[in-house]
Amino acid sequence: MDDSRTQDLAPYAALPGRSRGRRYREPESAYRTEYQRDRDRVIHSSAFRRLEYKTQVFVNHEGDMFRTRLTHSIEVAQIGRSIARALRLNEDLAEAVALAHDLGHTPFGHSGQDALNRCMKDYGGFEHNLQSLRVVDELEERYAEFNGLNLTFETREGILKHCSPRDARELGDLGERFLNKRQPGLEAQIANLADEIAYNNHDVDDGLRSGLITVEQLIGIELFREQHEAVSRAYPDIAPRRLQHEVVRRMINRQVTDLIDTSRAAIAAAGVSSIENVRAASDLLIRFSPQMSEANLALKRFLREHLYRHYRVRRMTAKADRIVRALFEAFMADVEVLPMDYQHKVRKAEAVAGQARVVADYIAGMTDRYAIAEYERLFNPSERT
Ligand code: MG
Repeated sequence: MDDSRTQDLAPYAALPGRSRGRRYREPESAYRTEYQRDRDRVIHSSAFRRLEYKTQVFVNHEGDMFRTRLTHSIEVAQIGRSIARALRLNEDLAEAVALAHDLGHTPFGHSGQDALNRCMKDYGGFEHNLQSLRVVDELEERYAEFNGLNLTFETREGILKHCSPRDARELGDLGERFLNKRQPGLEAQIANLADEIAYNNHDVDDGLRSGLITVEQLIGIELFREQHEAVSRAYPDIAPRRLQHEVVRRMINRQVTDLIDTSRAAIAAAGVSSIENVRAASDLLIRFSPQMSEANLALKRFLREHLYRHYRVRRMTAKADRIVRALFEAFMADVEVLPMDYQHKVRKAEAVAGQARVVADYIAGMTDRYAIAEYERLFNPSERT
């Protein structure tokens, strides 16, 4: 369908009528654009539903108030859409990429991914970004005619944020830009930075709520201090929890505004007039000002040091590491303890590397609580199998 609203889009936006298309040809929809369809396919996928029970920083059972990968992805989509609309870019595409960007995440966040990557070291490694693409290209089994969701090139391009030259060579047209040093479309660039804005700010919020980091510590960080001073001055009697939320929302707004203004200027200065120009540009055009990049870096460093390496977070990540490794080793030692559908896949796999990939797909698809339950079933003699 050719959406009349696309006429309001900038000439360098991704226009659905000019998409590089899907891997398998399909008839057009009568009432949705191609990127709307991509977004809808992501929302209806089972990998998307499982994001609800996958860790962002805090494991799901630690509390109902913390972000999960699902709420994180929705926040990324919200921020991405705001930026796309302000720059007259394709909101539907930015949203589709944002909602799909974490589909390949393992249980237990980054520690799960690191553990699985180490397990897969001799079998081609494991990388969540590549796995997100694998989910939408291969692993979802929903369509009669093909594996995966058969998304458009532009959405797949946005999901694949980074890629080694070795992997790029195997990915055909999607891998080309990593070998030829070309850029992705602007909507993909937006989703990438919307991810960063979302997690930096919600980790401040969740970190404060958990008590693992404090306002007193955060005052040392410029981005936080600026807004904290402004809100405290304007509302001297404000309750601490409300103050915290007001500060975080103003931080998000400050970053989003900086990104829109800086990117608008960069796009104008580069003189691009088509998505092809955007792809051929020497730099990414969606960017923060140098001052904001600095400020973001300081916040990231703070979170790494005080939140992600906090002993209570470390205990959970250490447990996650043990669970993922134990599962992988148990399945590789005896594939007949795998559920039947995965046994079928293992039998069809070529060589040990192929079997390891099936095991990695199974583990990566698990939610936190499913991984814990599976660990119990395999290793606790009094647990039902
Ligand atoms: Mg993310």
